[in-house]
Amino acid sequence: MMVLMDAAATPEQIEAVMERIRSFRMQALRLPGDDHVAIGVASAIPADVRPVLYDALSILPGVSRVVHISRPYKLASREFHRVDTVVDIRGVRIGDRECVIMAGPCSVESREQIVETALAVRAAGARILRGGAYKPRTSPYAFQGLGVEGLRLLQEAGQRAGLLTVTEVMAPEDVPVVAEHADILQIGARNMQNFPLLIAAGRSGHPTLLKRGPSASLDEFLLAAEYLLHHGTANVILCERGVHPLDRAYTRNTLDLSAVPVLKHVSHLPVIVDPSHGVGVARYVPAMARAAIAAGADGLMVEVHPDPERALSDGAQSLTPKQFSTLMMELRRVAEAVGRSIAPAP
Ligand code: PEP
Ligand code: MN
Repeated sequence: MMVLMDAAATPEQIEAVMERIRSFRMQALRLPGDDHVAIGVASAIPADVRPVLYDALSILPGVSRVVHISRPYKLASREFHRVDTVVDIRGVRIGDRECVIMAGPCSVESREQIVETALAVRAAGARILRGGAYKPRTSPYAFQGLGVEGLRLLQEAGQRAGLLTVTEVMAPEDVPVVAEHADILQIGARNMQNFPLLIAAGRSGHPTLLKRGPSASLDEFLLAAEYLLHHGTANVILCERGVHPLDRAYTRNTLDLSAVPVLKHVSHLPVIVDPSHGVGVARYVPAMARAAIAAGADGLMVEVHPDPERALSDGAQSLTPKQFSTLMMELRRVAEAVGRSIAPAP
């Protein structure tokens, strides 16, 4: 249960609501709302107490409305926040009518590589440049990323191409340096339940793209988003990137596109899809990218590399700039068919 206060509610009225909740021997939690204070009842409410508590809170001065939130996540739920959240970063609006395309290499490898990719994806209509500087690799012997140097190169390439940037942060202590260089923090699939990392990213207040863990249920995914929201980041973007594969012989993961309409229904947060990690094979990426837009995704994250065969990571799933440009033209037609749009090539 959640109590939404009037914008003009006084501190005394807020405290009176918290006190009333406590008088039921329940924990009251003050939550960061948009323009008004929200107070959550953090304890489980027995069914027979619920209507009594509801009435007791509804009549208190300063209370705008009391909502039942049936989901384990609260701030991420559509019951709490009825309208779609639009994450607006310097005019790029994720979650609005326009689908926002993020593209770039799996890893930042060199200045030439990231700048060439940035200019190419920008020319095709992408709005956000991706590129990993800290790489979560299954093997400790695989390329681990360029670290801070990679962040600098990504920032430089983004500025030169006129693109926002998104890059993964793997450790809580790296949140400040990544936030300083990139517009959006990415929390990778493997770190979806790294709670210290979620807390540090949340506290930074920096826009954050959260990837679904390979075996995470949607409740677990949304509870991870709840950590970010609860700790202070309002700008959270959800990213479906495939779950543990049913058939690894053909695809790296199984892309759960049904997650898109479900997440859009139960949450107000923008939802994007990463078809590259979703299938892991460049040949299949365009079909799933088109399907994701048709399914209602607010955007995509696509891996693009100027020379996929020589990529230091994820070459097999990376599109060439030419393939990406063709895909963008197809995506515009799909977007139009479902009442959305994609930025034209500049
Ligand atoms: C990536 O974006 O390069 C990446 C490692 O993704 P994921 O966390 O989805 O595996
Ligand atoms: Mn990758």
